[in-house]
Amino acid sequence: MEKGKIKYALVTGGSRGIGRAVSVRLAQMGFYVLVNCVSRMVEAEETLRLIREAGSDGEILPFDVSDRAQTAKVLEAWKDAHPDDYIQVLVNNAGIRRDNILALMPAEDWDKVLGIALDGFYNVTQPLLQPMMFHKWGRIVSLASVSGLKGMPGQVNYSAAKGGLIAATKALAQEVARKGITVNAVAPGFIRTDMTEGLDEAELVKAIPAHRFGTPEEVAALVGFLVSSEAGYITGEVISVNGGLYT
Ligand code: NAP
Repeated sequence: MEKGKIKYALVTGGSRGIGRAVSVRLAQMGFYVLVNCVSRMVEAEETLRLIREAGSDGEILPFDVSDRAQTAKVLEAWKDAHPDDYIQVLVNNAGIRRDNILALMPAEDWDKVLGIALDGFYNVTQPLLQPMMFHKWGRIVSLASVSGLKGMPGQVNYSAAKGGLIAATKALAQEVARKGITVNAVAPGFIRTDMTEGLDEAELVKAIPAHRFGTPEEVAALVGFLVSSEAGYITGEVISVNGGLYT
C-alpha cells in the first residue's frame, strides 16, 4: 500500500452493532471510513461521531446492498469523485435474520435474507475488485456466522446465506491471492447487538463455554487484524469468535 495517501475502508451495515465497532476500529487504524447503512441515518451519524472521536474521519454512504442498481450507482459516483483513489478495505457486514422453521417460512423471508447476504456480497464486492487488483493490495472480510458453519434449526435461510458467504470467500480468495488481496470470513457466535436483542441470554449462555455473549468490539478486533498488512498471508479462512460455542 502506498504510504502517505488516505486509506479508504467501506463497512456495509456500519450504522449499528458489529459494523459500528468495526468502523471505529478501522478509524483507530487510520482508515477514512465509508459507513454504509440502509435506513437508520441517525445511528450512522453516531458511528461517524465515534469515528471522528477516534481521530479519523469518514462519511455515510446509504444504499441497500441487495439492490444491484442502487449499489452500483453509489459506488460509481464515489469512484467518479475520487479518480485517484480506491477503496482498499471492504467489510461485508450488512445482514439480517428472519427466523422460522422452513416449513412455515414465507418466500419473502428466504429472499430477503439471502438477498442481503449473497446478492449483497456480489453487488458490493464485484465493483471494488478491479481497483484492488490494479493496485495489487486489498482486504475483504465478510461477516458469516456459526450458523453458516454448523447450520442452525430455525435459521435455514440464514444458515444457507452464511454458508454461501463462506464458500464465496474461499473461492474468491484463490482467484485474487496473487494480486495481493486477501479474502476472509469471520464467524461470530452470539454477540450482543440489536440482532440478538430479545433472545433468552440467560438460557443460551449455558451452551457457551465462555458463559457469556461476546461484544461487537471483540469481533472488530479480529477484523482489524485481518485487514492489517501483517495479515497478508492469511486468506480463504473462516475464523470463529464464539466463546467456544462451536469448534
Ligand atoms: P445489527 O445490529 O442488526 O445491524 C445490522 C446492520 O446491517 C445495520 O447497520 C443495518 O443498517 C445494516 N443493514 C441491514 N440490511 C441492510 C441492507 N439491505 N443494506 C445495507 N445495510 C443493511 O446486526 P449485527 O448483530 O451487528 O450483525 C452484523 C453482521 O454480523 C451481520 O451480517 C450478522 O448476520 C452477523 N452476525 C451477527 C451475530 C450476532 O450475534 N449479533 C452473530 C453472527 C453473525 P440500518 O441501521 O440502516 O438498518
